Order: sequence, then C-alpha cells, then structure tokens
Amino acid sequence: MKASRVGVLGAGTMGRGIAQLAALGGYETVLYDVAPTLAESGATALREALEKGAGRGRWSEDDARAASARVETTAELEQLSGCELVIEAAPEKLELKRQIFGGLAEALGPEAVFASNTSSLRVTEIAAGVPQPERVVGMHFFNPPPLMKLVEVVAAEHSSAEALATATEVAERMGRTPIRAKDSPGFVANRLARPFSLESLRMLGDGIADAATIDRIVRLGGGFRMGPFELLDLIGLDTNLEIARSFFAQGGEPERWRPLPLQEQLVAEGKLGRKSGRGYHDYDEAREPDPALGIEAPTLDPERLAKIDPAAEQVLTRLFAQVANEAAFALEEEVASPQDMETAMRLGFNWPLGPLGFAELIGPDRAADLLERLRAEEGEAYAPAPLLRRIITSST
Ligand code: NAD
Repeated sequence: MKASRVGVLGAGTMGRGIAQLAALGGYETVLYDVAPTLAESGATALREALEKGAGRGRWSEDDARAASARVETTAELEQLSGCELVIEAAPEKLELKRQIFGGLAEALGPEAVFASNTSSLRVTEIAAGVPQPERVVGMHFFNPPPLMKLVEVVAAEHSSAEALATATEVAERMGRTPIRAKDSPGFVANRLARPFSLESLRMLGDGIADAATIDRIVRLGGGFRMGPFELLDLIGLDTNLEIARSFFAQGGEPERWRPLPLQEQLVAEGKLGRKSGRGYHDYDEAREPDPALGIEAPTLDPERLAKIDPAAEQVLTRLFAQVANEAAFALEEEVASPQDMETAMRLGFNWPLGPLGFAELIGPDRAADLLERLRAEEGEAYAPAPLLRRIITSST
C-alpha cells in the first residue's frame, strides 16, 4: 500500500529522528508519546534539528519549513488513524511493545502496517498479540537515524509481502538504504559485528596484546575507524554485557557468543567505560592520538603489518577469520543475502569492508585452517561454520 501518512510511536532518541526522516520524506507525520509534553518536546528537538540541517546545507530552508509543518504531535492513539504505517520506538520491553501493538490494532483500521524498531526482541513475539500478525514487520533504524543510512526491514514469521514492501518503500523515501533481514537474534549488522568485540576480548585474555595495541592494530591495519576496546568503552561495558548475554541466550548458547569472564569482572568492578572514567582504557587524561602509518585499507600484507606491531598479523588474521565465520553461519541460516550483509556492515558500522570482503581478504581456507587449529587449542568458540570454506563461491 502506498503510504502518505506515517505515525511514530515514542518520541525519544530514536522516535524523533525517525519522525524527522518521515517528514523530510514528504509524509504527514504524527509523533505520539504517552504524555503531550513528551510528544511536544520530541517535536521541538526534531524542528531544531531540521533548522540546523538547513543551516549546514543538508537541505533547503524551504524543505525544513515544509517538513516542520508536516509534523503533528499527540498522546491519543486514535490520532494515528489514517496512518498507513506506524513505526514503534518505545522502550525495549516485550510486554510493553505487545500492549502497544494490541492497542494500535484496536485503534487503527485493518490495513495499517505496524513496524517495530526493536533491536534485540523477536518481531514475531511482539506481533503475537495482534489479530493480523501479517501486518507487523521490523524496521530497525540505527542511532542517530538522520545520519545512519541503514534500515533493516525485518520479516517476522507472518509478515506479508505487502507489509514488507510498504516498510521498504517508506525507508527509501526517507532517504535510507533498506535491506531485508530474517527475524533472528540481533538481525544482521549487530549480529555480524559480534566477533569484533568477542574475538578481541579473547585475544586480550590470551595475552596476545594489550587493549591499546589491539585497538591500534585494528585501526591501522584493519581499516576500522575505532578499535574494539575504544568502541566498547564508548558503548558502555554494562550495555555491551547485556547485549552479549542476550545474544548468547537467544542464539541457543553457542560457545562463540559466550560472554567472557573479563566482561563480567569489569562491570562488577564498576568499570563501565567512558561514562565511569574507566573501562578497557582510562579516561583520566586525554589519550594520545595514534600516529597514522599511512595504511588505510585493511591489509594482511606481513611487511606492512610488521610496521604496525609484531602482533598485528596474528590479531588481524584471528579477527578476520571470526568475522568470515560469523558471516558463514549467518548465510547458512539465511539471515540476509550476501549483498545485504555487505551493505549492513558498511552502512550500519562504517566497516571498511563487509564480512564477505574480509573473508575474501583472508581467504576462506586460511580462515578455516586457523579456526580448526584454535579450536583444538581453545575450544568450540572457534568451531568453523560448515559453509566457511565455500563462503565466496556459494555467495556469488
Ligand atoms: P528512549 O527511551 O529514548 O525513548 C522511548 C520513548 O518512548 C520515550 O519518549 C518514552 O516516553 C516513550 N514511551 C514510553 N512508553 C510508551 C508507550 N507505552 N507508548 C509510546 N511511547 C512510549 O528510547 P530509544 O533509545 O529511542 O529506543 C526506542 C526503541 O528503539 C527501543 O526498542 C530500542 O531498542 C530501539 N533502538 C534504539 C537504538 C539506540 O541506539 N538508542 C538503536 C536502534 C534501536
């Protein structure tokens, strides 16, 4: 169904950004929150962001004014009637989201499509209380929505092709890049990013290098904008531990997703990252920027890596092998198409290559041989995916 009016439910961090995109995309946009003041403060922030964007030349003053005028706020679910699509961005609690979707189904006609912006719950479970679950999909935006181009359109068990097409079309008109994701733990980008932190933590635990050295290697030789430990400190170690536990439980407790003792220990000690001044790094003093060595693209060239650090080759081969391995598991489970997996990591996390790009760089056989060896030494966290050796040929 072609949408002209879009509702956004929850005017917090994500909701206001999503509503901004809807308004800029030309939709009549209704921003709902549980109290009028909450909806209004979301809209005020949204309007300020529109003005700021015009000031920076991201869109014209006229476009900003027109988009502002398309936004209305409400604390009444009934005001969402007439919306062809409602995107829910309420707190991440299954019961709450179920209630919200049940309420929406009562308040809106049977045609409207409902999308959840959940990042860790199963969309199928959220949809369970809705009389027509075929109209429920996931639309997973990244933070902040106006800057992050990726939207994972999640197909729940009963999502209809029409509902998925509506969500995809609206995402495109919002100027985003939609990809299609299976309703599976963490969907695509967050799942494929798992080894980035977990394998780095295992290498830290194995004493291969300290956190600062691993960060440096991953930035200078891996081509990533941030090293894994800088990123964990930024996200917050407590938040990351929650995410790690959720993946481990939802995935059926696979060894490669098991949270590491060091994660538990630092959180127990109150070392939560930047917000507590201490995490994998200390933030008492300004940290020195690393000298750039002129290596911008990811590399496994031993000569170039030797200039970065004696441990660089070991760190990057282990990291790339695990990145390729997670992609192989995800392909086997049909989490997303190979093309969408590459798009997810480039747009969702600014990776310099997608996971199949990293698989190609290391070579599937080299990755699988390394994992087999590590499996013998360290255990099942290194079990290679059955598809790993065939990953390139099977995905092209
Ligand atoms: P937030 O706390 O900033 O905002 C949530 C908003 O929902 C608040 O304004 C709150 O008043 C409102 N709300 C509470 N109960 C409600 C109800 N019954 N009906 C409607 N609105 C209600 O949260 P957020 O960070 O914007 O996250 C919202 C959703 O987006 C969560 O599901 C989260 O997992 C997901 N998400 C968040 C991020 C992120 O980085 N923050 C990224 C991707 C997805």
